Amino acid sequence: MKLSEIKTPISVLSGIGPAKAHLFANLGIYSVSDLLAWYPKDWEDRTQKRTLSEYKLFPKVHTIVQVLHHSWFGYGKMRTLKITVTDGTATGHLIAFNRPFLEKSLPVGAIVALTAHFAVKYNELQSTDFETEKIADSGNIADYKTATVPGSRVFPIYPLTAGLSQGQLRKVIAKALQEYGRGIDNEVPQEVIEKHGLLTKQQAIFAIHQPHTLQNALKARNTLIYEELFNFQLAIVRRALLHKGRLPEDSLQGYGEKELPSSAFLESLSPRQKKLLEALPFELTEGQKRTIYDINQDIDRTEKGRFSSSPQPYTMARLVQGDVGSGKTLTAFFACLRIIDWGGQCAILAPTELLARQHAENAAKLLAPLDVNLAFLTGNLKAAGRGPLLQALKEGTIHIVIGTHALFSRNVQYKDLHLAVIDEQHRFGVLQRNAILEKGRQPIPNTDNYAVPALLMLSATPIPRTLALTVFGDLDVSVIKTMPQGRKPIKTYLTRMGNEQNVYEYVRKEIEAGHQAYFVYPLIEELKTDETRDEASYNEQDHSVFIDSTEKSSSIKSAEDMYRFLSETVYPSVPMAVIHSRCDEEEQSRILENFRLGKIKILVATSVVEVGVDVPNATCMVIEHADRFGLAALHQLRGRVGRGEYQSYCFLVYGKNLTETGKSRMKILRETNDGFVIAEEDLKLRGPGEVTGIQQSGYLTLGIADPIRDRDMLETARRDVIEYLDIKKDTAV
Ligand code: ADP
Ligand code: MG
Repeated sequence: MKLSEIKTPISVLSGIGPAKAHLFANLGIYSVSDLLAWYPKDWEDRTQKRTLSEYKLFPKVHTIVQVLHHSWFGYGKMRTLKITVTDGTATGHLIAFNRPFLEKSLPVGAIVALTAHFAVKYNELQSTDFETEKIADSGNIADYKTATVPGSRVFPIYPLTAGLSQGQLRKVIAKALQEYGRGIDNEVPQEVIEKHGLLTKQQAIFAIHQPHTLQNALKARNTLIYEELFNFQLAIVRRALLHKGRLPEDSLQGYGEKELPSSAFLESLSPRQKKLLEALPFELTEGQKRTIYDINQDIDRTEKGRFSSSPQPYTMARLVQGDVGSGKTLTAFFACLRIIDWGGQCAILAPTELLARQHAENAAKLLAPLDVNLAFLTGNLKAAGRGPLLQALKEGTIHIVIGTHALFSRNVQYKDLHLAVIDEQHRFGVLQRNAILEKGRQPIPNTDNYAVPALLMLSATPIPRTLALTVFGDLDVSVIKTMPQGRKPIKTYLTRMGNEQNVYEYVRKEIEAGHQAYFVYPLIEELKTDETRDEASYNEQDHSVFIDSTEKSSSIKSAEDMYRFLSETVYPSVPMAVIHSRCDEEEQSRILENFRLGKIKILVATSVVEVGVDVPNATCMVIEHADRFGLAALHQLRGRVGRGEYQSYCFLVYGKNLTETGKSRMKILRETNDGFVIAEEDLKLRGPGEVTGIQQSGYLTLGIADPIRDRDMLETARRDVIEYLDIKKDTAV
């Protein structure tokens, strides 16, 4: 049977009573399968002797020692035994906290197998972390010089919970292996196991818990990682085949814009789309055209699917990736127009009111003249306006509704929601994505099938390809690489804190030339409690302000303080405003509107301006304490300038105690404006295991595998899956 099918409760194993079972439950271990899938986080190789004199070379010594003498220090309950030992190469001291009984079990003169971590403390070699096993009550240590140490094995090191020891876990797992290990089946096709020289599942389970050698353990781990990735990809590819009858595009070719004859683009447009194109004051970029073309194909197939009796009608699910300022919104507007021409309704979901409002204003300008009824819906909408709006949505007189989470709240109903656009998709989790799609679930007449809305996700935080394969492996991906014409690359300068004055002077010249500037700070106001961090609009992973810096919080500049300083001392005659998540919604939009109109020249802010502010006349982005922001966030912030025809600048002012990683982050930003490169570097710097934001968002549920660390294996697994499904096309799928 499969490992996951061994649902026998662990209480059947001898030695596990109710109290123990409770401890295991703390780890989420209830069944034998949970237990056997509780993989070690590491192994300790005790197959080689490591003498006391080698304590620096290895994390632990593993040797045979003789007890030289006992001594005690401390008083009363704190009285602690110190055991002095030698293995003939050096003398060490075992500090036996809470283990007074060792006085009896390890008498002076005893010969003992010792595994311990040693460090120099108080001028002597000490260990508080040691394991012992008596070999003899007396003897001559010289006789053991070449003897192998008893217990020379590779030991698994498990993640633990209070009350459970490594030894206990090893014992229980050994029991489980003995009683249930023999019946475990493979979960990867035999041909794939052979192709890569993997272990069988059964071998892997035994070897990961009880390896003969370290290599053996690592091979077991690789087998299990591969198995997980293979099955993950298998599920994704099967889902794609089911919904689309084909693999997601671009899944292995990498991200690139595909060529498209411009006549093909023009011919693909629907009536409202044609009108919008004609009304635009600029040319669409190649990337936008290609994306709109792809979307058009998707939408037509999806809409036709609404009348089909095939068991799984095709449904669009596409991710548009494009760097900040590449014009993704417009592609979403084109998508909406086509849906409206087909007779459906659209919802555009944005993570903040600010952004939603901006989309609504743009839509009003561009789309309202095309006979499109628009609505703006956020949680803040007062009851008076809300009722009629909800009614109109339900009756279908509204074509496009733009808003925040309110769009999928319980009392919102749609007549014919055919398209859900999710902007800044990384701010939304999988549950929210499903919630908005649910709003449009409709039975297909004369069938048992349901139609769900087409899904268009926009991402300004480029998702590295490897990660996209895992997380969004069933989505089609369009990439907009070309920036709108006339944009000049932003110039980025690094400035050490203390030299900000130079930056302020530079900005002054830009303001005098008629341009505008942003100043961004990590805090709203001086840090008193944790809540002053501008977290309201924040999604954990990429964006959270770093608080692990060595500076004292009191020395961190805040938006409110700097607003005062800049407006009173540095730029006394320049119209300025401060904005952050504590300002109420109306004030935020009033300030932004004035900034857009140029009435406000300098906007002092927290990272709330990361999304949703589009002011082409702004040419300067000053980020102080830049080292406290994540790479992705810095790139997003920088993307607020360089949105017009003017040369723009980004000044990153970094703290004095910049760490190595901090330095690398700054350098990357200076060297490239390419969000894809930055995203890849970001992941490298943050290292494996730190993509948890994505795990929390619910897109990814991996156990032993890590999509970043194991990226090569991930690609291999995906290729194998595709090959495997091809072979079995007629049967398996
Ligand atoms: P993002 O991809 O970051 O969401 P936006 O959709 O906000 O970018 O677009 C940024 C700005 O570029 C907007 O002011 C938009 O009107 C403008 N824009 C979009 N497409 C083009 C184009 N092809 N040529 C010139 N400007 C464009
Ligand atoms: Mg955008």
